Amino acid sequence: MRILVQKFGGTSLSSEKAREHVVRHIKRELDQNYKLVVVVSAMGRKGDPYATDTLLDLVAQNGNAIPPRERDLLLCCGEIISAATLCSILQHELISSTVLTGAQAGFLTDDHYGNARILNVDPSRIIRELEYNDVVIVTGFQGQTEKGDFTTLGRGGSDTSATALGAALHAEMVDIYTDVEGVLTADPRIVEDAKPLAYVSYTEISNMAHQGAKVIHPRAVEIAMQSQIPVRVRSTFTESEGTLITQPEGFKDVQTGIIDRFVTGVAYVSNVTQITVESQDGEDHHLQLKVFKAMAENDISVDFINVTPTGAVYTVFDSDSEKAISILQQLGFKPKSLSGCAKVSVIGGGINGVPGIMAKIVEALTEQDIQILQSADSNTTIWVLVKKEDMVQALRALHAKFELHR
Ligand code: ADP
Ligand code: ASP
Ligand code: MG
Repeated sequence: MRILVQKFGGTSLSSEKAREHVVRHIKRELDQNYKLVVVVSAMGRKGDPYATDTLLDLVAQNGNAIPPRERDLLLCCGEIISAATLCSILQHELISSTVLTGAQAGFLTDDHYGNARILNVDPSRIIRELEYNDVVIVTGFQGQTEKGDFTTLGRGGSDTSATALGAALHAEMVDIYTDVEGVLTADPRIVEDAKPLAYVSYTEISNMAHQGAKVIHPRAVEIAMQSQIPVRVRSTFTESEGTLITQPEGFKDVQTGIIDRFVTGVAYVSNVTQITVESQDGEDHHLQLKVFKAMAENDISVDFINVTPTGAVYTVFDSDSEKAISILQQLGFKPKSLSGCAKVSVIGGGINGVPGIMAKIVEALTEQDIQILQSADSNTTIWVLVKKEDMVQALRALHAKFELHR
């Protein structure tokens, strides 16, 4: 059985017109004699009737007073509505299909509601259903605990459902259909001349996804990389082939120059707060330990960490900052905080050891009078922290400086 996994994101399912495109992609692959596992997201984006954010608004009215388990139950409805609607369209088109929820599709997760981790995928029911149906539609973004409770996999988690199924079913390919042409050198909503990339390695896209390029979920990339399943990110609305994500060996012969590129793209994470904690009286050997242990115990995710002999500087999401500051004050520290910052990243497998990359970044930002609040680097990424109001200009300036539009 030749199996292809197709995943359609929210905007790809949000209107009748969009769903016609979905059917077009399904028919084309059925004509190629594939059996299809189609993973769907909830329809549309914030404001649309059955979108995930719209479901969340139902409880926002009550000050978000809902237990995490029941919140996940609510969120799972979006994908179920979407899957049943697609099933109806396929039936109308005389294409045999059936719908499986995350649980029925074999997703066993832990009970970390809202951000559950997949423990196992048992694809046996899907395989059985594929014998009688051309298409098995699976509700993305969800699984179930050992006890049988619904869980969700974190925002954007339908991508993860898709690559996890690709791996479990040994699919030939996982196609992630979305509202852009593929993986681009930057978010096209911010950088107008961002360019689609024909090929990216698992490592390149993993770094981009981790740095905020939400075109694919980072966990989805990790799973694809571990199982070496090729993934294509492509547009629902055009015929373009999109971006192939695979190992460099997979595209070396096809695409020239790509292995040599220094910088793959730029990405961002907005709405973060920079927190600075300094020891009151010279050195406090336990300061870092106290600070980071307290953050961990309170489930506050920290990033952009710089530790000095007398203190620590790091970032948290704006939504966690009040809680973080209050914890630090309770520990007797007098933290300083700067909210409304953005982390802007320059990502590229080829920047390691190349002189002048940081100089170029500083030059690009200085030319625009953008203040760098903090910086850090790894062998594949250089991050700078800027004020949120400078973020768009910073991304455009860096994109231009590294000539990524070429
Ligand atoms: P879907 O609902 O299809 O999963 P998402 O909104 O989750 O769609 O992801 C697609 C969006 O990702 C695009 O509309 C685009 O604005 C954004 N994006 C951010 N960075 C990139 C990038 N480097 N390349 C392509 N899209 C990006
Ligand atoms: N519907 C979920 C979300 O909006 C999952 C997804 O779209 O991937 O986060
Ligand atoms: Mg998405």
